[in-house]
Amino acid sequence: MQRVVVLGSTGSIGVSTLDVIARHPERMAVYALSAHSRMEQLAEQAAASRAAVVVVPDDAARARFLAAWNGAGQPPEVRVGAQALADTAADSRCDTVMAAIVGAAGLPSALAAARAGKRVLLANKEALVAAGPLFMNAVRDSGAELLPIDSEHNAIFQCLPHGARASAPTEPALGVRRLLLTASGGPFRRADPADLESVTPEQACAHPNWSMGRKISVDSATMLNKGLEVIEAHWLFAMPPDRIEVVVHPQSVIHSMVEYEDGSVLAQLGQPDMRTPIAYALGFPERIASGVGGLDLARQGRLDFEAPDFDRFPCLRLSFEALRAGQAASVALNAANEVAVQAFLEGRLPYTWIPRVIQAAIEWQAGRSSVTLASLGDVLALDAEVRAYAGNLGVV
Ligand code: NAD
Ligand code: MG
Repeated sequence: MQRVVVLGSTGSIGVSTLDVIARHPERMAVYALSAHSRMEQLAEQAAASRAAVVVVPDDAARARFLAAWNGAGQPPEVRVGAQALADTAADSRCDTVMAAIVGAAGLPSALAAARAGKRVLLANKEALVAAGPLFMNAVRDSGAELLPIDSEHNAIFQCLPHGARASAPTEPALGVRRLLLTASGGPFRRADPADLESVTPEQACAHPNWSMGRKISVDSATMLNKGLEVIEAHWLFAMPPDRIEVVVHPQSVIHSMVEYEDGSVLAQLGQPDMRTPIAYALGFPERIASGVGGLDLARQGRLDFEAPDFDRFPCLRLSFEALRAGQAASVALNAANEVAVQAFLEGRLPYTWIPRVIQAAIEWQAGRSSVTLASLGDVLALDAEVRAYAGNLGVV
C-alpha cells in the first residue's frame, strides 16, 4: 500500500491528485494533506480520504479546520506551521509525497521529502528554479525517486529511453539531441501588444486549454511559466540550455518531445488533464487508470506549431538569460515574478509591468557582490531580499 502525502491538497493539482488516488483504494491511500487557506475544503477532503494527518499554517487555521470538521469520528491529527509541513513530508509513515504547493513557499517541504528519500512527485516547479542544484543533490544523496508532474516534463520523462529515466542524472541521456518543450502561447498569443496594458486578472487567468491555479495561469499568459519550465528541464534532465527548445503548439495535445541523434522525435500526446501525469507518477512503472479519456484525433483535425516570439513574451527571454547567468539570477527571476504576479492579481500592478519588475530584480541582484547558495537558508535569504527589493520598487 502506497501511503501518500499531498502538500497543497486544496489546489488544482491537489484536487486532481486526490481524484486519482480515490480510483485505486487497493494500492494507495492518503496519509496526510496540507492547505494554506481553504480549511472547509481541507476538512471535506480529510473526511473523504480518511487522512491521518492534516497540516495547516497557524492556530487560527487549526481552529477553523476543527470547526469545519463534520466527518465521521475523530478528526485527524492537526499539525501547525512550516516546520510541521517539512516534517510531515519526511514522515516515516509515508512513502510518496506530492509537492503541489505553489511558489517558493513549497521549497522547504519538497526538499525535506527529497532528503528523506521519498518518491517525490514534483509539481512545484518553483522549487527547482530557486534551488535546482541543492534539490537534485538531495535526490542523489538520499536515493529519492523523483517523478516530474509538470505535463511537459512528465512527457519528456515518458519519451526518454527506459534506462535513462534516472531520478537525478548528471549528464543528458545518451543519444538525445534536444528537448522540445511545447507551449500553448496562453490567452494573449495573438493579442495586440497595445491592448495588454489594460489586461485584467480574469482575462489573464482564462487559459485556453488548461484549468489551473491563478498564479500559474498568469505565468502561462506571460510565458514566464515556459521559462520556469526551461530551467526545470535543465535541472531534471541535466540538459544544457541550448539543447532545450520551446515550440508554440496552441492545441496543447502534444505535451512535449524528445529529439534523438538519429533524427527520431518521440512525443507524448493526450488530453490537457493533469490527472494523466499524476497517475503516471503514482503508478510508475505501471500504467493505471486516471479518469482521462482518449484522444479523438480525427475530430482534432490538425496540430499547429510556431516559433515563440521573444519580443512579445519578454519573460521567456528573461528566463533563458537567468538560466545562463547562474543560480542567483534564477532565484531573482522567480521571487520577483511571485511578487509581481501577486501585485497584478490584487490590482496593484499593470500586467505589462510584470517583466519590468523581473528584469529590474535580476539587474539589481547582478550588480551586488556574488552570493553563495550552498544551503536552503542561503536560497531563502536571497529569495527574501529579492522580494523586499521588488516590493519596494514603487510600482508594486
Ligand atoms: P493552486 O493555487 O491551485 O494551489 C496551491 C496550493 O498550495 C493550495 O493547496 C494552497 O493552499 C497551497 N499554498 C499556497 N500558498 C501556500 C503557502 N505559503 N504555504 C503552504 N501552502 C500554500 O496551484 P496549482 O495550480 O495547483 O499549482 C501548484 C503547483 O503545481 C505550482 O507550483 C504550479 O506551478 C505547479 N503546476 C500546476 C499545474 C496545473 O495544472 N495546475 C501544472 C503544472 C505545474
Ligand atoms: Mg507545464
